[in-house]
Amino acid sequence: MAKIQMKTPLVEMDGDEMTHILWGEIKQLFLEPYVDLKTEYYDLGLRHRDETNDQVTIDSANAALKYGVAVKCATITPNAQRVKEYNLKQMWKSPNGTIRAILDGTVFRAPIVVKGISPTVRTWEKPITIARHAYGDIYKNSEMAIPGPGKAELVFTGEDGQEVRQPIFDFKGPGIIQGIHNLDKSISSFAHACFQYALSIHQDLWFSTKDTISKTYDHHFKDLFDAIYEERYKDAFEKAGIQYFYTLIDDAVARIIRSKGGIIWACKNYDGDVMSDMVATAFGSLAMMTSVLVSPNGQYEYEAAHGTVTRHYYRYLKGEETSTNPVATIFAWSGALRKRGELDGLPELQKFADTLEKAVMDTINSGIMTNDLAALYEGEANPVNTRMFLYAVASRLPAAE
Ligand code: NAP
Ligand code: MG
Repeated sequence: MAKIQMKTPLVEMDGDEMTHILWGEIKQLFLEPYVDLKTEYYDLGLRHRDETNDQVTIDSANAALKYGVAVKCATITPNAQRVKEYNLKQMWKSPNGTIRAILDGTVFRAPIVVKGISPTVRTWEKPITIARHAYGDIYKNSEMAIPGPGKAELVFTGEDGQEVRQPIFDFKGPGIIQGIHNLDKSISSFAHACFQYALSIHQDLWFSTKDTISKTYDHHFKDLFDAIYEERYKDAFEKAGIQYFYTLIDDAVARIIRSKGGIIWACKNYDGDVMSDMVATAFGSLAMMTSVLVSPNGQYEYEAAHGTVTRHYYRYLKGEETSTNPVATIFAWSGALRKRGELDGLPELQKFADTLEKAVMDTINSGIMTNDLAALYEGEANPVNTRMFLYAVASRLPAAE
């Protein structure tokens, strides 16, 4: 088998700790023997972020904008303890936050479904992807405790000094108030990313809010989605044979539970936060969640949803064997290679992504899996360490030259 040639480089964002160890193994065992890997490499490991004053993160995001497809390893988001541990110049921001801001992207999270690990919800056969709007609402709120009787109002002062006032409540005693906002620009980017991603993976898109109660705020989300759909995506959806619909969040919850899965559910910021945790838990393991950041212009960044698995890394450093699940990181690579193949017209590269994912699934179906999965598996599991799992997958790939 000759190595598969690539046309455009993939933006490679390397990361930290145990996932950084997996990263190297995955490239060496699964990719380099089969693909003439063309990547533009960025080391987002915390030390290098610190050396470059985090410029490397910004550069990598700009490269993703330029080339269109990136694959990212999990990275440490520093806190006070990490600042000490790595002797950092400052508490650098979350790389994911920086990249998301530059790509103006939306995160789509979907579980990798395996036989033998049934979702808690019996009817779910296919993955459910949650698209979470990642700007505004209660995450950028302004809140206040009301000490006692008085009048609370919403006040908007235009640039021309004109004031618009609206009563919130006439307090007779103590209470609380909160002000939240969102932006047409951000909601529109979110909508574009959702429509693009639905077309890209050929799945129906649902969008839900509480517009019956929130007749201006939530209703505005619905209106923007509807207008963008009508203007830009309706024809493409009809051609692709997929559906977009809006429904009240109560109805969406009921329908999701009764569905077979295989849908993208777009949610406002808070709904997406809560629902993605619920869906992830109901599907099984955090180590089986993939995550794709999609920009409104159709640029993609693939990664695992979990972190750097720090506890395993410290065992690894002591020379102990770990049983760290590499599946979501492997799928980040296969997802990125498949997308690169699709954009560059390289069917062999797309097929290779399928082959790699099938080797992973065949391995798990044969009972060989890491401890986290073995704990959930309904059949006879053969739990193995990280290395043995990686070799078991490699042995299921065709022989390389
Ligand atoms: P984590 O790395 O996801 O790990 C939490 C726990 O979940 C692990 O200790 C492990 O449990 C289990 N786990 C997660 N992934 C696993 C895998 N692939 N295989 C087996 N078990 C797995 O989250 P964290 O410990 O909260 O965060 C660690 C670091 O990751 C932090 O510095 C954080 O900033 C960073 N982080 C990065 C991202 C990202 O880059 N997208 C996301 C989240 C967190 P057991 O130890 O019980 O086996
Ligand atoms: Mg949450």
